[in-house]
Amino acid sequence: MKRLMDRIGETVKGHIAEAKLSPLEDEIRKYILREFAKNGRPPSPKEIMGELGLSSVDTVHQTIEKLQKFDIIMRKNDEIISAYPFSATETRHKVIFEDGHEVYALCATDALGIHFMLDKSITILSSCPECEKEMRIVVKGGKINSCNPEGTIEFVSDKDRGGCTAETLCPFINFFCAREHLEEWRKKNPEFKYGEIYSLDEALEYGKAIFGDFLK
Ligand SMILES: [Zn+2]
Repeated sequence: MKRLMDRIGETVKGHIAEAKLSPLEDEIRKYILREFAKNGRPPSPKEIMGELGLSSVDTVHQTIEKLQKFDIIMRKNDEIISAYPFSATETRHKVIFEDGHEVYALCATDALGIHFMLDKSITILSSCPECEKEMRIVVKGGKINSCNPEGTIEFVSDKDRGGCTAETLCPFINFFCAREHLEEWRKKNPEFKYGEIYSLDEALEYGKAIFGDFLK
């Protein structure tokens, strides 16, 4: 049987396939992701134009429009605010690279996926929606290297979906510091109580399946 994360993964990867990006459009998509990873924010259209040696910024704007249409990136007031797996604004999930620089991930699975997308060791700091306690997850060499507290799990709410995944779904894919806190939170948030629980290793596999070839 398909699990929720299978469906979500198919949706995210499906958008890229459906967009049928030209080689240049795909280069622009990848450049945006690489810069996002490096700086915690997306490059400006002018920076994209310069990097790819384009003669006009129109191509960049058109590509960004197309990427938004297919829910590959999200914009607000003409600014790119997120591109799976990254968010330009603060979220619950901070990802720290070995050189110390930081980015925000859109959801718990995205945070884990960044390790596979970039093939870099990362430390995820995430806060439990129930108690706001910090969870620290180190991912190295394709595996969970350490996790504190040890009982950390992932919960994916099965909300009615539709529209943009980043807005409707990402806020409801979270780590919880313990099973007991997830259950407390479900009691207090009955509209989100239905969903699936994933062990950290299971969540890691989905991060790999969704983002492993995002930049390839
Ligand atoms: Zn908690």
